[in-house]
Amino acid sequence: MRTAPQQPTPLPDSPRIDGARLWQSLMALAAIGATPKGGVRRIALTDEDRAGRDQVVRWFRDAGLEVRVDEVGNVFGRRAGTDPAARAVATGSHIDTQPSGGKFDGNFGVLAGLEVVRTLNDHGLATRAPIEVVFWTNEEGTRFTPVMMGSGAFAGVFEVPRIHAERDGAGLSVGDELRRIGYLGPQPCGQVPGGMYAAYLEAHIEQGPVLEDQGLPIGVVRGALGQQWYDVTVTGMDAHAGPTPMALRRDALLAAARMVELVNRIALQEAPDGRGTVGHLQVLPNSRNVVPGEVRFSVDFRHLAQAGLDRMDQAMRTGFAALAEAAGVQVAVQQVVSFDPCVFDAACVDGVRAAAQSLGLPHMDIVSGAGHDAVYLARVAPTAMIFVPCKDGISHNEIEDALPAHITAGGDVLLRTMLALAM
Ligand SMILES: [Zn+2]
Repeated sequence: MRTAPQQPTPLPDSPRIDGARLWQSLMALAAIGATPKGGVRRIALTDEDRAGRDQVVRWFRDAGLEVRVDEVGNVFGRRAGTDPAARAVATGSHIDTQPSGGKFDGNFGVLAGLEVVRTLNDHGLATRAPIEVVFWTNEEGTRFTPVMMGSGAFAGVFEVPRIHAERDGAGLSVGDELRRIGYLGPQPCGQVPGGMYAAYLEAHIEQGPVLEDQGLPIGVVRGALGQQWYDVTVTGMDAHAGPTPMALRRDALLAAARMVELVNRIALQEAPDGRGTVGHLQVLPNSRNVVPGEVRFSVDFRHLAQAGLDRMDQAMRTGFAALAEAAGVQVAVQQVVSFDPCVFDAACVDGVRAAAQSLGLPHMDIVSGAGHDAVYLARVAPTAMIFVPCKDGISHNEIEDALPAHITAGGDVLLRTMLALAM
């Protein structure tokens, strides 16, 4: 096991987290549900999840936090503030994992929040606003759908009875499993003592390759990409590959190939916030000596702004029509899925950037291509995220890894951002 680097002696007015203690907590939690390949398997509402929850709740109580559990098993630990009228500043993430998950996804955000509290305790620092650390039920969505279940219910996106009725593949319901593991709480979902959070911050590994590629320890997350998915069908005419002259073909695959290239160009024009992917392609009749008469493919567009998604949609429809006409084929575009973009609160994002700046930590603005609990929290409270690099950008994998120095840096940025909001 690696150890975290030595911390500089903390100054009273600018405390630093104890990176070694945060790392030890991460490794201790990862031992619950540990897999032989070095990963973690703690699927939501299983016995392993219960053991992980119990451990984190013990740590919450040891740090003096007052623990509440809500109707969907979200767990909240509160450190009181000095101003009874102040709304809490919250942080958290999730501790459930994928079936072959890693040590850091979600766990880092929860334990970084705990480390913030431990650090405040070490320094005897009182905050004006209460500090709250949360772990949300079933973020991963691997056993029960929908994903980000607990945070979605908290934000009012999912109704509690519907969540309780969700069943896994074996027919067991969320409600029954919450009761069985002792986490069906009394707190009404979405209610926060003293009022909804003044702010919510979530620290998380990036789960992508950008920060590592740039050699930066901190990503200031501006938001999460919206998504629009399409099914596209290109219809030409099947024809014999030998007797049919080039000029007389209506080659659906040739047209589709140009469309794939166009999707790539459209996304490049929207860099860095746009993404465009063709990941599935079906050729009919898929025979080596037949000019293809029909091609079906998928398009996945992502962008931080709805206006960007709209531009990509328009450019695709116009471009596909022109390419189809030039190739003598028909094209049909059907939108099948859409998720709205999530733009985080400007003041919270600025707070994260200022914290990184004041710590002298190199950073960049970044967008999340994946969903997080913070995306639902952003609907009800001013929200931002802090990313740290993960090795090779790999996540949802037992080999998921992160450097102690980066984990410490992320914890320090979280502490400083929360202090600025809560003092
Ligand atoms: Zn996660």
